[in-house]
Amino acid sequence: MSKKVNRVGYELNANGIKSLSDDEIKLILRGADDLIMSGGRSLLAKILAGSKDKKLLELELDGSPVYGSFKGVSQKDILAKIDWMILNGYLEIEYNYRLPVLVFTDIGWEIERETYANELLEKLMVSAENQTFEFVEDLKDRNRGMILLLLDKIAESGNKELIIILKAWQEIEYKKVRTRIQEVIDILENADGDIKRTATQELISFSANKKWLSIPEEIRKKLERNVFCSNCCDVVQIVNYSVKDSPPGFALEGKCKKCGGDVARFIE
Ligand SMILES: [Zn+2]
Repeated sequence: MSKKVNRVGYELNANGIKSLSDDEIKLILRGADDLIMSGGRSLLAKILAGSKDKKLLELELDGSPVYGSFKGVSQKDILAKIDWMILNGYLEIEYNYRLPVLVFTDIGWEIERETYANELLEKLMVSAENQTFEFVEDLKDRNRGMILLLLDKIAESGNKELIIILKAWQEIEYKKVRTRIQEVIDILENADGDIKRTATQELISFSANKKWLSIPEEIRKKLERNVFCSNCCDVVQIVNYSVKDSPPGFALEGKCKKCGGDVARFIE
């Protein structure tokens, strides 16, 4: 049954490393995620070094969030860190036909799943803010355990802004995940806080949102803190606001941070 295959050998050498920091461990696992079962130690080392290697660029691995994280560290030292990860049970080597490739151990995956879910949560928030829904396509066919963890995080966030993107995501998902997405939508809709905007309202304010987001963040922050509240008779910060079209400009409508009363600010 088993034909003899000339497997490519390898030798692990942690080069005397006693331990790695939690951040380094997370970072190496994040780098490994994009090449699990397909790439080996040296490819991972190149990602972390920020190498311009042809194969790496072909596979678009320079898009990894940890690409170049160990810039300036020698290839040999990076490889030693990776080997430490293998010797200490965060990563494993398996053979993909002839080649030794990296896979997660259970512990390694548990850590990486968390890192990855946090990264996706951030991307979802940005997508919701920018009203771009294409990103949900990326969520389909991902590891189920990680996706469920992400949904737990969304529920915990209590962030109602995410409801609209959850609805877009729900449309393309399989039944089991769809059911969980609905549960999370229900949780967010019943979460404390007084913003309860419907999807229709969100769509109406689409262009206003874009105008608002085209203002540099620094200036947006200043504008948020420069809103007059007639109740407090003072300049206050606006919170829980939505952006509405209000020709010739647009308006922020929300609550006063101090007293919770309704406030608005027009911007031209
Ligand atoms: Zn007030």
